[in-house]
Amino acid sequence: MAKKNKQTWDLAPAPESTGHVQIKDRYDLFINGKFVKPAGGKYFDSINPATEEKICDIALAGKKDVDKAVKAARKAYDEVWSKMSGKDRGKYIYRIARLIQERAREFSVLESMDGGKPIRESRDVDIPLVAAHFFYYAGWADKLDYAFPNRKFSAHGVAGQIIPWNFPLLMAAWKIAPALATGNTIVIKPAETTSLTIMKLAELIKESGLPDGVVNVVTGAGETGAAIVEHPDIDKIAFTGSTEVGKIIQKSIAGSGKKLTLELGGKAANIIFEDAPINQAVEGIVNGIFFNQGHVCCAGSRLFVQESVYDEVIEKLKHRIETLIVGDPLDKNTDVGAINSEGQLKTIEHYLKVGKEEGNEFYESSCSIPKKGYWCRPTLFLDVAQSSILAREEIFGPVLAVQTFRTIDEVITKANNTEYGLSAGVWTDKGSKIFNLTTQMRAGVVWANTYNRFDPTSPFGGYKESGFGREGGLHGLEPYLKFE
Ligand code: NAP
Ligand code: MG
Repeated sequence: MAKKNKQTWDLAPAPESTGHVQIKDRYDLFINGKFVKPAGGKYFDSINPATEEKICDIALAGKKDVDKAVKAARKAYDEVWSKMSGKDRGKYIYRIARLIQERAREFSVLESMDGGKPIRESRDVDIPLVAAHFFYYAGWADKLDYAFPNRKFSAHGVAGQIIPWNFPLLMAAWKIAPALATGNTIVIKPAETTSLTIMKLAELIKESGLPDGVVNVVTGAGETGAAIVEHPDIDKIAFTGSTEVGKIIQKSIAGSGKKLTLELGGKAANIIFEDAPINQAVEGIVNGIFFNQGHVCCAGSRLFVQESVYDEVIEKLKHRIETLIVGDPLDKNTDVGAINSEGQLKTIEHYLKVGKEEGNEFYESSCSIPKKGYWCRPTLFLDVAQSSILAREEIFGPVLAVQTFRTIDEVITKANNTEYGLSAGVWTDKGSKIFNLTTQMRAGVVWANTYNRFDPTSPFGGYKESGFGREGGLHGLEPYLKFE
């Protein structure tokens, strides 16, 4: 089967050009509207995970730098941003949105080079959504009184924001846009492996004329994030990342009066009933876990298939997996790009090893992978037990754990049997089944007959160990305001 598919699906390479992107050798910190060197004088490498080549140097911010950034944000809040009308704040946010649209191609290429995701994803999903979030929240800036009628509220002040590596610019947009719309100033830290596009965003923000100190970017590792969390003059922390670090942050700010929202990990159930449109569902499964290398907090990493259609679904899924093209993220034909970092590849390989040692039946794509870079073939584990590590822990890679069920009650119990509760998917022809499931699933988002759909007007967030607070939509404004 693999051979036949190779002939059918081997497409000539169609790589996106990189001539239009400008990358400096070194990126400094963005504090008070200026690019400044880190106090400690240290830098770390930004690596292209598809080639293992160094892209540039990124500044390593320490406590002193974070303090400088917080002071700049406080000053900008007190002297400029808190005094500005919502209408004027909105103008700046619209300007940022428009600039992102104008430079969408450049940002897409950079996001794929730095993070490893296929250009098709960054070009068609990430960057359009980044612009859409800024446009959406720009619209709210002068309408907060309508968002929360008859309530008295004000901004918190300085927001500290910490984001992960899987959607670097999109996570930055989810954080920056609502914070600015509600009148807060910002100190934001990207993940160590994906700092480049945020630094480009800082250049764009400077170009937009946003007053100095309203947005500050400090790059670095976990300690830089901890310095933001622990800084006494931060009013609100917004964190997206692992449940493990989320718990550390929660402990560290306990009793400090700082406000907190946590968007954490997930282990989503994707449920296929026998009456589902099977071909469509198979596409949804592939989109849910294999596109974007499974580097998605809401990835449909647990698949539940009703027994009567199990053989059909698995056969189609195996066939579809063989057609997935793994390779150069800048090639427009690529479906599965590079794993974000060497460390993440090791984590995924550990799960693959343990999953095989547990004795699970597995199926791995026979695709070829490039010699250099960090790659993982799409992999299915079949008939996985509820107790298996593959069904319990977040792998954050293109690895799918498949289970079966007979009745709706059984699948609800199995799907809810997890510490997480970020998202879920259901595939069926029956509206009643969808509503039954959506009311009983303990998950923040439940997609029906589709998967991984996002829109700035729609709130997103978790239950249980997937965190608390919502981002997106009207709900996403609330955590950035204090109400009397
Ligand atoms: P992570 O290790 O928790 O890191 C997230 C961010 O926190 C990074 O910027 C990291 O810096 C920083 N950090 C690390 N230790 C810290 C500390 N002690 N104090 C403050 N900040 C600290 O998560 P990740 O591996 O980057 O991202 C993957 C995780 O994010 C997955 O669990 C995924 O499910 C979750 N995620 C959730 C959502 C959602 O909306 N719920 C969205 C996307 C991702 P360094 O990277 O530089 O160490
Ligand atoms: Mg990188």
